[in-house]
Amino acid sequence: MKRVLLKLSGEALAGAKKTGFDEPTVTAVAKQVKTLVEEGIKVGIVIGGGNFWRGRSSESIDRTKADQIGMLATVMNCIYVSEIFRSQGMMTSVLTPFQCGEFTKAFSKDRVSKYFDHNMVVFFAGGTGHPYFSTDTATVLRAIEIEADTILLAKAVDGVYDSDPKDNPDAKKYDEISIQEVIDRKLGVVDMTASIMCMENKMPMQVFSLNERDGIVNAAHGINNGTKVTV
Ligand code: UDP
Repeated sequence: MKRVLLKLSGEALAGAKKTGFDEPTVTAVAKQVKTLVEEGIKVGIVIGGGNFWRGRSSESIDRTKADQIGMLATVMNCIYVSEIFRSQGMMTSVLTPFQCGEFTKAFSKDRVSKYFDHNMVVFFAGGTGHPYFSTDTATVLRAIEIEADTILLAKAVDGVYDSDPKDNPDAKKYDEISIQEVIDRKLGVVDMTASIMCMENKMPMQVFSLNERDGIVNAAHGINNGTKVTV
């Protein structure tokens, strides 16, 4: 693979604390991404916001405003992770689809290409910039736009199961499954909007556990210890 889009959930950054940041966890991610960058692989990153806020977190405020808070949570996450990456010796940039003053730069495909040419890791913060979407949709959208070979979906679970392994001890893990089947069986690997975008634009995904040793490197090398979602 030459170009990948890594998606990290917000909770993944928080480790066992579930909220805020867990520096050892993020540093471990940084070391793996550095391996890929040194191999010449271009890495784009989308991070969720669930360690701070989700649009669904409040029933009393307007959803559009609640989603704006969620999008800003993803900006905080990207700035933090970007700085940890820099502390590990990588060059990074944080791009957003809306203005954040001097904190970030505006997303454009040309800008991403230029940064990738300079071996920078590019963070796509702020989701799609629109309410009622998610960082799942932002992940697929940016992966398509930057012409990624695949999406690397780092999760708390180690792949795609036919039912929730937390509820069902007999849940079966797939080594490989088509995105059509993910949609038909409502498996929720990514949300439905993102799944349809993957299908329509033929964007494959590698789903694996962030707890897997070298999971990100393995997935980028096509070593599939989780689930390959095919198109
Ligand atoms: N969000 C949004 N538009 C986007 C991306 C994210 O409105 O394009 C908001 C939404 O409120 C979401 C929150 O940011 O709940 C955090 O994003 P994430 O994808 O982690 O949320 P989840 O899917 O877990 O709700």
